[in-house]
Amino acid sequence: MFFDHSYANQLTDLASAVSVTPLASPKLALFNHELASELGLPDSFSQEKSLLASLFEQSGTLNQQGIAQKYGGHQFGGWNPDLGDGRGLLLGEFTDPHGQPWDFHLKGAGQTPYSRFGDGRAVLRSTIREYLASEALHSLGIPTSRALCLISSNEPVYREKQEKGAALIRICQSHIRFGHFEYFYHSKQHDKLNKLFEYTLKHHFAECLYENNPHLAMLEKIVESTAGMVAKWQAFGFCHGVMNTDNMSIHGITFDFGPYAFLDTYEPGYICNHSDHQGRYAFDQQPGVALWNLNALAHGFTLHVEIEQIKEALGKYEITLRNQYAHLMRQKMGFNCEHDNDMLLVNQWLDLLAADKRDYTQSFRLLSQSDLTQTQFVDYFVNREQAQAWFEKYQHRLALETTQPLQRSEQMCKVNPKFILRNYLAQIAIDRAEEGNFEELTKLLDILRHPFAQQEKHESYAKTPPDWGQSMEISCSS
Ligand code: AMP
Ligand code: MG
Repeated sequence: MFFDHSYANQLTDLASAVSVTPLASPKLALFNHELASELGLPDSFSQEKSLLASLFEQSGTLNQQGIAQKYGGHQFGGWNPDLGDGRGLLLGEFTDPHGQPWDFHLKGAGQTPYSRFGDGRAVLRSTIREYLASEALHSLGIPTSRALCLISSNEPVYREKQEKGAALIRICQSHIRFGHFEYFYHSKQHDKLNKLFEYTLKHHFAECLYENNPHLAMLEKIVESTAGMVAKWQAFGFCHGVMNTDNMSIHGITFDFGPYAFLDTYEPGYICNHSDHQGRYAFDQQPGVALWNLNALAHGFTLHVEIEQIKEALGKYEITLRNQYAHLMRQKMGFNCEHDNDMLLVNQWLDLLAADKRDYTQSFRLLSQSDLTQTQFVDYFVNREQAQAWFEKYQHRLALETTQPLQRSEQMCKVNPKFILRNYLAQIAIDRAEEGNFEELTKLLDILRHPFAQQEKHESYAKTPPDWGQSMEISCSS
């Protein structure tokens, strides 16, 4: 199997060569065969013995040219120049049968020059959460990094309590973050910044090279893809939790999972990150924060793009986001045609869910039933009068559609998931895995691969959380 090392070879002075520090008694706990086949990896890649040897042995094929990348980042609004891959390594780049190169990155690989006081490790709990989230988002059609495999171990790792170390091979187009550009700009290393631009344009935005100003074209693309990603987060009720600029990918994919959550009850100001005391990264703040982050990234472009052009590029964010969000919400409501007051109706629906603290996912699935009666609908709410008034307006609006109820219901069930990754489901799977049993985790992953299907035999996985699983406080430590 051939791995490329273009970042390591071409941007040698923007990274540090590091080899993997082996984990004690590693085991291949999960392997994503679906992803492996999409990538065109040979079957032999999933063989435990050879995979572990290639990762952890000094002479292992995946352990030849690992690098830790240098970057900085705005964390909760404050600039931090001292970041970089502190526990992850870029092992190499693999080109799939379509000619698309993918980074193979090992998270939890041990210390690097950017570890600061950290141990370079990731715990089993957090690697499982990342594996689950990325696969769940992917199945919903939300752009994200992917998880190829998870390696468990007996390595003691100390967080709030003693836990076990684990590692994850993460796959994505590249690991270049907003913080890469920010770092070389703010540290005034303009030669390195330019090398990074040159590399990124050539390898990841080659189509921009044919534009009058390739840098501007690249910025526009990042603005567009970020807006598209956030529109999907908002439509599916995904809360990232730590939208620091070092966790923002230039490819507009969901990246670096921490204390994320999918909304259970619809609470627009929901804060999933226990340490986010100000609510900077609350669910309804995400669209604004992404723009703030794009602004921070855009500083790095000022050597190549006029301020007015930058403003114009950033100005496209809001309209792109609004259009894409409206498109998704129309689909979720079962509207094929567009009418002026659609978003007013959507917002009134969301107000209804918020006032009654209804489950976001289940409510859309209820609306997707072809035989839903007014009585059933009104009974679902405490605030019956408001519910009835809204339902009448909704029926008037549906009357403008040409699709029949059954067909509409089918369409709506393809965009309104029945199964989402609720934090309590993840926690049950983690608890079992920590006891050495990965069956529940495998089962949950299988269910989440088909979020829109009925899967009657897994009805319990579509339920709202039990008392203990509501508004869970997810630890930031990972
Ligand atoms: P994160 O919170 O995972 O996005 O990480 C923020 C920064 O801290 C990045 O530079 C990470 O590489 C680094 N970091 C997080 N956890 C560790 C750890 N256990 N050891 C070393 N560095 C870490
Ligand atoms: Mg991070």
